[in-house]
Amino acid sequence: MKFGDNFSSSDSLTRKIWKANIHERLKMHLWRIAFNLLPTKDQLREFSPSSDTCCPLCNVEAESALHFFTQCHIARAIWFGSQWNLRIDKWQIHSPAHLIDLFIDPPSSLLLDEEQKAEFLLYGALTLDMIWKWRNKVLYEKSTPVEGQVIRSLQKLFLEHWRPKVPVISSALTRRCARWCCPNQGMVKLNCDAAVGDLSSCIAIVARDWRGNLVFAISKKVNTNVPVQAEAFAILLAVHIAINFSCCSCIIESDCKVCIEAINSGGNLVPWRLLNFVEFVKYVISGYNHVSFNWVHREANKAAHVLANWSFNQSLFGSFDLGFGPPSFVNVILAEASQSTVFVGVQ
Ligand SMILES: [Zn+2]
Repeated sequence: MKFGDNFSSSDSLTRKIWKANIHERLKMHLWRIAFNLLPTKDQLREFSPSSDTCCPLCNVEAESALHFFTQCHIARAIWFGSQWNLRIDKWQIHSPAHLIDLFIDPPSSLLLDEEQKAEFLLYGALTLDMIWKWRNKVLYEKSTPVEGQVIRSLQKLFLEHWRPKVPVISSALTRRCARWCCPNQGMVKLNCDAAVGDLSSCIAIVARDWRGNLVFAISKKVNTNVPVQAEAFAILLAVHIAINFSCCSCIIESDCKVCIEAINSGGNLVPWRLLNFVEFVKYVISGYNHVSFNWVHREANKAAHVLANWSFNQSLFGSFDLGFGPPSFVNVILAEASQSTVFVGVQ
């Protein structure tokens, strides 16, 4: 595969990088890569000719930006392990600028629509950032991250950064607090989250009433190691539970922005990867109008996060309450209930 024969001049590449719809820190990283401004060993060698030039990731080849982002077997495994299954070594990339240009302006042969192009650039930028951080960890902290963990953290990061271009449904229920808030009086709030492992994952649902009291909590093992899928399973379990609470309104909260926005977008502009999930959620809740969905920051989803991680690490799944629950989880419930009572009076 040969890409980008007519790739951008440096001025137009700089403009394209700064116009990209990604975090400023990622833009800066892309720009430093494109213009060979990272302190790689081949650059440092100009100042210190006797210094070691070996790539810290593979310890075989000489280090250069092009080597460890595209040719090093460690980096190749990360690209291939991504949702795009990229064979980056087959791209015949001839310079760091060429590499960045390909992510900003993917070749038409990939047949990406506008949304997929935006996903492709975000995933590329996050991966380049992760490879650089990994390289620095190995070099300065002498610690070797595990490949599977790197790929999973990348997928998780992608979900946190991804902003699908869908209209946001404004609702009195949509409160994007940085910490957990009690639902309105008479309502039940279900927080859900997933802890993702190499072979399987654990999902957890924590339901609380308007006083912050625990109604119930449950964790369950699921057979997936794909973060977005695990998050979707957690939301689906919460939906199945919520439709049984027909006597009161339920709000389902998740920190998976892409899942919640896909459900709330009303069937329009749903990311293609989540179409089946969204269809299924809509099918399950059809006829039940007491269930709504809300995206929250990870910090506001702590109870479900802690329970999913604890269950996953202990391989203990099932239902929990304050008398029979891991102390880390019980502490979050008690702390959030006492915090929230302060706010009940002023809401
Ligand atoms: Zn290498």
